[in-house]
Amino acid sequence: MDPQTVFCPNSACPASGQTGRGNISIHSRKERRYKCSECGKTFAETKGTVFYRLRKSQDLVVIVVTLLAYGCPVQAIVMAFGLDERTVMNWQSRSGQHCQQVHEHLVERPRDLGQVQADEIRVKMQGLIVWMAMAIQVQTRLWLGGVVSQCRDRHLMCALMRQVRRCALCRSLLFCVDGCRAYIDAIRKAFREPIPGQAGRPRLRAWDGIAIAQVVKQYAHRRVIGVTRRVVQGTEAQLKTLLQMTQGSGVINTAYIERLNATFRSRIATLVRRGRALARQMPTLHEGMYLVGTVYNFCTYHKSLRVPLHLPNHRRRWLRRTPAIAAGLTDHLWSVKELLLFRVPPPFWQPPKRRGRPSKATKALIAQWCT
Ligand SMILES: [Zn+2]
Repeated sequence: MDPQTVFCPNSACPASGQTGRGNISIHSRKERRYKCSECGKTFAETKGTVFYRLRKSQDLVVIVVTLLAYGCPVQAIVMAFGLDERTVMNWQSRSGQHCQQVHEHLVERPRDLGQVQADEIRVKMQGLIVWMAMAIQVQTRLWLGGVVSQCRDRHLMCALMRQVRRCALCRSLLFCVDGCRAYIDAIRKAFREPIPGQAGRPRLRAWDGIAIAQVVKQYAHRRVIGVTRRVVQGTEAQLKTLLQMTQGSGVINTAYIERLNATFRSRIATLVRRGRALARQMPTLHEGMYLVGTVYNFCTYHKSLRVPLHLPNHRRRWLRRTPAIAAGLTDHLWSVKELLLFRVPPPFWQPPKRRGRPSKATKALIAQWCT
């Protein structure tokens, strides 16, 4: 137990989310609890992780969640480990929600995306078809997020593009999407900013440097017989530069997202086929998607992301990287246990908004914790 690396999880506490400030001490080694001297509350070591209030051993949970993240059927886990089906489903749901928090905390930060590809998968569930739209940053193969919806419509694309927008810096950005018209409106709608300094509702201005390209495939008897590529927005020169920069060739394609779809599909097919009640529920699919996506981003080496290391005497080694390493989010491969143990800090404390001057006590708290 190391109090220096722990923060107070109490969002009402002035010290919430801050580490190494000396306010945390060990409350009980036997019960593995810490205490915050600022708010006086105690909390368990596992608060904020997947293991909070679980009675089974952490190693067992890690094994089960790893199997789930690689598409192992729940029934197989139930038989192999003698667990209750509801327990396994509960662990999956917990870890999916946890992964979503980690994703929102670490991946949804503004960065120069370069090229983004988006596509949607048709997922067959019991008695209904749902659509799962996802986006990938091509250069780092980073999964940027996904949305599950019953309809493949404007709302789905808009929700996906809002997610991409949270990951994007206002730089040159190329979108490669399929022929669905709704994407174009969704991209134009999401990538706008209010013009400051106006009374009333501000007018919105579109970002400069957004290019959109479509790849439309023609099918006959489920086989591709032709591909049409068209530029919807942006100049040819801009497109060529962005394509060269992000993928090293100048051909408009959606190959990267299709490869990612295949990865997800191999792990989601079993998710869906798992059982009768479960396959009907969309939250299960949503949580499964976040579990698979975050494990893909942080815990799996991607072969095409490796870079050669030139050693003396003309020897060469490969430095393997995960999408998260390539995107600069972390410097090492995470184990699934590390992912499940990651505690997302609550937002820093904000002093209460009151009329008039703050009291002396509030001033002292602001001086101590908000600098
Ligand atoms: Zn506290």
